[in-house]
Amino acid sequence: MPQGIPIGGSITSNERLWCSVDGCTGHRFKLQPYCCTHSERVKRTGDPRGFTPDPRQWRWERTAVADLFKVNPQHPGMVRALAYLTTWTTRATQEAAHGNHWQLEVARVMRHGVTVQDILVEVCAGWSWLQRMPHKAPSDRAAKFWLGHAVLKLAPRPVRMSARANLTGGKSYPLRPHWRALEDTGAHLLAVLAPLLVNVHQAIHAQEDSAQQVVADLRAPFLPSTKAIKAASINPVTSA
Ligand SMILES: [Zn+2]
Repeated sequence: MPQGIPIGGSITSNERLWCSVDGCTGHRFKLQPYCCTHSERVKRTGDPRGFTPDPRQWRWERTAVADLFKVNPQHPGMVRALAYLTTWTTRATQEAAHGNHWQLEVARVMRHGVTVQDILVEVCAGWSWLQRMPHKAPSDRAAKFWLGHAVLKLAPRPVRMSARANLTGGKSYPLRPHWRALEDTGAHLLAVLAPLLVNVHQAIHAQEDSAQQVVADLRAPFLPSTKAIKAASINPVTSA
């Protein structure tokens, strides 16, 4: 008869160690290299120091990207990206019944009427915002989670009632996406769209830079006229 792996002792000895995050004074959780708080953060963001994105933060980028796409409907990169997303989302929807976590989540997003254009704008905008705030996703894995969140947050989360809330008519709570769904969704998009994400980020910030240059030009100081210089030399300002 095969012997079970005696992990009880390993857990006890691991839980005596400190969390691997610098400066954290918590004990490790089960077999994780991190404490309970940081293990939870890894599950949500892919990194013990990662952050969960808030799509309200990239409003400016969303508008800028949507405008850019409106002006360039035939951009070859955008056309290819939309074709890829169409295939990707269609397959996810077809395979969702027996599929992976990410396919179930993508199918759910599409059921809410989200379009592939919406996904592309959101991914480009979220990515561009992240380039200005790199500490929000401090590793490659966290960047994948970031893009996963950006897409899956396009549709409202499914909610669940706790047993108590069911009895008392209390509030429901949103169900978090599985970490595999976040990582896989982000990884697929990043693997295919990375050159376009960089291109769009540079394009919208080049526009912003040129707009700032226009304002700087309008505010540039004028040189005094020769008449004013002459007048100043004839009537030197005398101190009182
Ligand atoms: Zn910790």
